[in-house]
Amino acid sequence: MPIDPTLPYDDNNIFARILRGEIPSKKVYEDDWAFAFEDINPQAEVHTLVIPKGRYVSWDDFSAKASDAEIGGFVRAVGEVARMKGLVEPGYRLLANIGAHGGQEVPHLHVHIFGGQFLGPMIARR
Ligand code: AMP
Repeated sequence: MPIDPTLPYDDNNIFARILRGEIPSKKVYEDDWAFAFEDINPQAEVHTLVIPKGRYVSWDDFSAKASDAEIGGFVRAVGEVARMKGLVEPGYRLLANIGAHGGQEVPHLHVHIFGGQFLGPMIARR
């Protein structure tokens, strides 16, 4: 079920629990601002999620309320993970789903990094 991105942050969402170490994840990268781990249901050869450490429901919430340091740290972490995965030269795709039309299912901002193969059309055809 897609989430409502206008609701307040839920401290019990699954990515909050991963950040607190209550649920296991395949960690790829961590710094002061971000945590990256492998998607449990990969949609491409490489499918890694990067999440900010702060309590932000979505890209909307993050872009409106996060500090410049949080935003800078998070954006740099996404780039670092893609470099670590060797995705720059072959290319890759970033995706952040927001709310119902985006199909967002977890109410903690996450950027998907897809790569390792040709990724096809930008969005599904209707
Ligand atoms: P979205 O539809 O953008 O909210 O994407 C949520 C993503 O989180 C999906 O690709 C799921 O496969 C992934 N996911 C859900 N639970 C976990 C988990 N425990 N560990 C890793 N990835 C997860």
